[in-house]
Amino acid sequence: MALAFDEFGRPFIILKEQEQKTRLRGLDAQKANISAGKAVARILRTSLGPKGMDKMLQSPDGDVTITNDGATILEQMDVDNQIAKLMVELSRSQDYEIGDGTTGVVVMAGALLEQAEKLLERGIHPTRIAEGYEMASKIAVQHLDHIAQKFDFGVTNIEPLVQTCMTTLSSKIVNRCKRSLAEIAVKAVLAVADLERKDVNLDLIKVEGKVGGKLEDTELIYGIVVDKDMSHPQMPKQIEDAKIAILTCPFEPPKPKTKHKVDIDTVEKFQTLRKQEQQYFDDMVQKCKDVGATLVICQWGFDDEANHLLMHRNLPAVRWVGGVELELIAIATGGRIVPRFQELTPEKLGRAGLVREKSFGTTKDRMLYIEHCANSRAVTIFIRGGNKMMIEETKRSIHDALCVARNLIRNNSIVYGGGSAEISCSVSVEAAADKYPGVEQYAIRAFADSLDFIPMALAENSGLQPIETLSAVKSQQIKENNHYYGIDCNDVGTNDMREQNVFETLIGKQQQILLATQVVKMILKIDDVISPCDY
Ligand code: ADP
Repeated sequence: MALAFDEFGRPFIILKEQEQKTRLRGLDAQKANISAGKAVARILRTSLGPKGMDKMLQSPDGDVTITNDGATILEQMDVDNQIAKLMVELSRSQDYEIGDGTTGVVVMAGALLEQAEKLLERGIHPTRIAEGYEMASKIAVQHLDHIAQKFDFGVTNIEPLVQTCMTTLSSKIVNRCKRSLAEIAVKAVLAVADLERKDVNLDLIKVEGKVGGKLEDTELIYGIVVDKDMSHPQMPKQIEDAKIAILTCPFEPPKPKTKHKVDIDTVEKFQTLRKQEQQYFDDMVQKCKDVGATLVICQWGFDDEANHLLMHRNLPAVRWVGGVELELIAIATGGRIVPRFQELTPEKLGRAGLVREKSFGTTKDRMLYIEHCANSRAVTIFIRGGNKMMIEETKRSIHDALCVARNLIRNNSIVYGGGSAEISCSVSVEAAADKYPGVEQYAIRAFADSLDFIPMALAENSGLQPIETLSAVKSQQIKENNHYYGIDCNDVGTNDMREQNVFETLIGKQQQILLATQVVKMILKIDDVISPCDY
């Protein structure tokens, strides 16, 4: 495709003949885009809610992922349509900003697109639809502010936080252990949270997993767990009051950096060289001992000779520790990462109350626990599970729960889940539509109908009649003038979400509505699709 100008300066587009058929304009373009967006939403729709289905995705190299997390499903799907990619991006932004609600946001956008299609067919201009959606989203967000409730929690009263995290986990594969996992997530967030500044640095929470054991064995460790063991089997397995030297320099004699040649042609020369090397190791070990280190954690490896010497001189060491872990260990133990032996000083040592090696199963699988650290604001969630897929899915679910707890610390407002907030917004948007004299009122009504898609999807996924269930709940909300009736997905016997303790964060829900509206507006405003190849 090329943009050219005629002699009067008027622009025109030149398309090569074989490319002509890939140009879509006007209503055709909008319809094609809408159907691409809807296709993506349809895939995720069945995964929404506590009874949602899981997806199994296989990557080109054969790795299998089983998940029901919207962002992960879309991330792993090989989407090559540009509009479908926008939906993937949408889910990713929700994940980035909020961390939870990644399925809901795509289902919502899909519903908005579906409704927009109907309006387009009735001859309403896409710009008017986009404007109507914008107005409606503002009304919905304001209404959410209005129905939101604040709840108090403290370091001693973590129950409300746990309940909200449990709502997030109840729709995941790990819902069998949702209580214990929610507690772990909340305790982890509170351990690293700065409650005065209302901020949480999730980087201080390390999530580590090891295949084996049961999901119930998942634990929170106030410290760091490293998937490494002591470099020599005869080194002590437990060190109390450890003073840790964290080194990024190798435990070996320096290698010549430029080309040098050392001729060793006699036994004496060899022995001198060997002695020198030994002396070098000896000096290094002595240096560590001199500053008072009782444990050395090294980014690089060291050879058997150094290893033996370390064992002999009673200086336990761990080798090949990754950069990220090294940094976390430094933060947790209050130590400094030392790049050169000469720079090692007693103040740079990290401190930990207990460092122990723990073994798992019948194999020689061992891990290093660094606990009771000087700076207790770094924790590890250590996940156990039957297989790798389970551990990966648990990691993703824990990530969602951590994000929810963090959002609540930032802003402790909640709305009720199970579709109740959406139904309440739908009623209020519908009521507001009549007040608009213009064509926008159709779009506003369509927005209200789209909001109903979430409770309908929840009902459908739980094996209930979607339309009947929705109308019953909606009329109940209107009759009793409250906003906590939702879909009883788990067949508990009541659809009062307050009683079922199904909460979601206010900012998460608002973000869902805002992001979905933004993307749909963007899609509606495209009226010309020019692509180089057929799709
Ligand atoms: P997302 O990735 O969008 O969080 P989920 O599959 O986690 O999607 O589903 C979340 C939806 O399920 C929310 O609308 C939430 O209110 C609802 N939900 C979660 N637990 C329950 C429950 N016990 N009863 C009814 N609805 C629930």
